Amino acid sequence: MDLGELVVYHRGGFRLYREATLGLLTHALQYGTGCYEGLRAFWNAEDEQLFVFEPVAHYERMRRSGRVLLMDLPHDAEKLAEITLELCRRNGFRTDAYIRPILFKSEELLGVRLDDVAHEFSIVAFPNSRYLDSDEGLRLCVSSWRRVDDNAAPARAKITGSYVNTALAKSEARLNGFDDAIVLSDDGHVSEVSVANLFVVRDGIATTPDPSQNLLEGVTRKLVAGYLRDDVGLTVESRAIDRSELYSADEILLCGTGVGIAWASSLDHRTIGTGRIGPIATQLRAFYDDVTRGRIVRPGLDARAVYGASARRELATANVDERVA
Ligand code: PMP
Repeated sequence: MDLGELVVYHRGGFRLYREATLGLLTHALQYGTGCYEGLRAFWNAEDEQLFVFEPVAHYERMRRSGRVLLMDLPHDAEKLAEITLELCRRNGFRTDAYIRPILFKSEELLGVRLDDVAHEFSIVAFPNSRYLDSDEGLRLCVSSWRRVDDNAAPARAKITGSYVNTALAKSEARLNGFDDAIVLSDDGHVSEVSVANLFVVRDGIATTPDPSQNLLEGVTRKLVAGYLRDDVGLTVESRAIDRSELYSADEILLCGTGVGIAWASSLDHRTIGTGRIGPIATQLRAFYDDVTRGRIVRPGLDARAVYGASARRELATANVDERVA
């Protein structure tokens, strides 16, 4: 894919990716002083429609992350959702897409601090990105790295620099032959997977780590908790989970915007459940696919249509100059 030709949102307008450049001394590059979001757009081929999933929830979380780093978003979440849909339209996506907004300290200056450094906001969106092949069960390990503590770098805020912690865990797992890693919080309880939250299902109870375990409070986590409780009829608990509880799970489910709904076939070389996809993961994956592609509409879940009546007509009329105007 030629990134250069993508339309991005940068410095308050739409321009081409190759024209949205930044200097080497940009504060966020030097010190990791940014926060970001990951949204996805889901293509529904039958209806020729693209849906951006939960844009307001993502921008609300970004507003809160920004507050931790002394930054404000340029608009409210609703307006940013509109800009995001417009960005997808201008790119003419007719396929799934990944959307990456970033709010970052943009001043070209040296000095490790958060105050008195200018910031800006950009969005990049690109087609067809899949973080993991989640059709297959994942082979997980428990990482030797611990999750960054709230009193060191709050995981609740999606801070770019804190993702070094994630990268350490992920690469250790990959280099040791696993797909991904479960990280423990500093007190030794289960926190999350590299870029996903998790649920442990056993005997009709679904348990997920509570937010005090240094995790990101995922948009997908909220959807999954509601679905497991209201549709599947499981008891859903949010509490501290011991490592050993994982090994005796019937199913371990992973959820996140990039991952979608995935499941673990093994953990630390121990088979989880039967080692094959379980009934809860099967149902949940089908539901997630229907909700994100606008086939099921539920109050409280927000899949926003990008195009008007039909993508085909709108795309046929857009020319290149209009895309970046
Ligand atoms: N935890 C971490 C560390 C993440 O980066 C992500 C992905 N944003 C998640 C959990 C899942 O969050 P969400 O469902 O909002 O994508």
